[in-house]
Order: sequence, then structure tokens, then C-alpha cells
Amino acid sequence: MSILSDLKELLLPRLCPVCGKLLMESEDVMCAFCAIGLPRHRITNIKDNLLLRMLWDRVDIKKGTTLLAYNHYSPYHNLIINFKFHGMSDLAVKLGRWAAMEAQRLDFWEGVDALVPVPLTRWRRWKRGYNQAEMLARGMAEVTGLPVVNLIKRTKNRKPQSTLKGEARLKNAEGIYRASVPDEWRGKTFVIVDDVMTTGATLGACSEALQHADEQAKICILPLAFAGG
Ligand SMILES: [Zn+2]
Repeated sequence: MSILSDLKELLLPRLCPVCGKLLMESEDVMCAFCAIGLPRHRITNIKDNLLLRMLWDRVDIKKGTTLLAYNHYSPYHNLIINFKFHGMSDLAVKLGRWAAMEAQRLDFWEGVDALVPVPLTRWRRWKRGYNQAEMLARGMAEVTGLPVVNLIKRTKNRKPQSTLKGEARLKNAEGIYRASVPDEWRGKTFVIVDDVMTTGATLGACSEALQHADEQAKICILPLAFAGG
């Protein structure tokens, strides 16, 4: 360890985003103890699984996977909270890298042309300083070499999905996303990236918007975590 990193460690101690313990130099995203207990979603079939079935009646999703089981009452919930609400954008990039490597094992990236983050409203993006889905996508891009393209926009300021439940989420998400696909991107295979999939309202609405903008587009989804199933 250099004097500089000693100093940095002293001034800004790195903490485990799950349990809050001091991280050792060898520990990166989280402490070894929390890494072992990570609640994994082990999806083996990327072309037929619960995620896709939740969206079947809305849009034809070619493949999809997720890595973490999201539970509001689990301390692992802190992973998402920290990069979503506590400014830890670097945590989203690291988790994006990890998710991309895990998805690689399932040949998820085969035939994919670009990563498309779920957008935030301009106001929320400005308030937070970054879009967490875009940070996840950037981490995935580092591993896969794929470009991140912001093809979807959020058009209206409505309530954040996290404040709503069930039907209300679906209604809230309807018609608030618009996509535009430039000629050079038409007919490509896109992976829409988000942090957490709950009812599928957001990912469904984004997929519909993208499909509407380009009928030939092949759409795949990759939420980091899944709150159902
Ligand atoms: Zn920990």
C-alpha cells in the first residue's frame, strides 16, 4: 500500500455497502462475508423464464436474465439503495461489471449490438447527478465492449415507480417512455438495462417504446435484481 492510498483510506474509509464494515484492501465491491451470502437469482434459460413470461402479453422479448434476488427486508437491499439514493455511482459501475461477467457464462451477450439504459426524467437525473441504470450499463460495457446508447427518453414527470404498487405502477409507466432509433441502429439487438424489476411495468413500457420506434429491433432485458419469483 502506498502512502497515498494509506491516506485516502484514512480520510475516506471504504465500507461494505451491505453490512457497513470496513473493507480490507483485498475486498472490492463488498466484504467477503457479504459476498458469500449474496442472494443470487440463478436463471439458466435466458430465452424462457419468469421475467420474459411477465412481459409476454406486451412485447416479444428475445432473452432476459437477472442476477440478484431483491428483498426489501434483506441487508442486500442496501446495495441498490446506496447506488440509487446515496450517490454511490461507482458501486453501480462495479455491479454492472460483475453482472456482465455472470451473464457471459450464459452466453447472454451473443448477437447483442448495444446496451440501452432505462432513462430517468431530466429533473431526477439532474438531482441525482447520474442515471444509475446508465452506470450499470457502463460497467457492462467495460466487460463486453458494447456501446451504451440512450435511445429511450422519459417524457413526463410522474411519481417514481418505487412509491407505487401493482396496477398503479402499470398505469404510471404507460406512455411515459418514448424511443427514437437512428437509421444506423435500426434492426439491431438491444439489451435494456435497469436496476430492479418488480412488476415489469417499467421494463415493459421501455421495451414497448423501443419496439414501437423500430419494429425490427430485437429486444432483450437485463435488470440487475428481480423482486419477484
Ligand atoms: Zn459486508
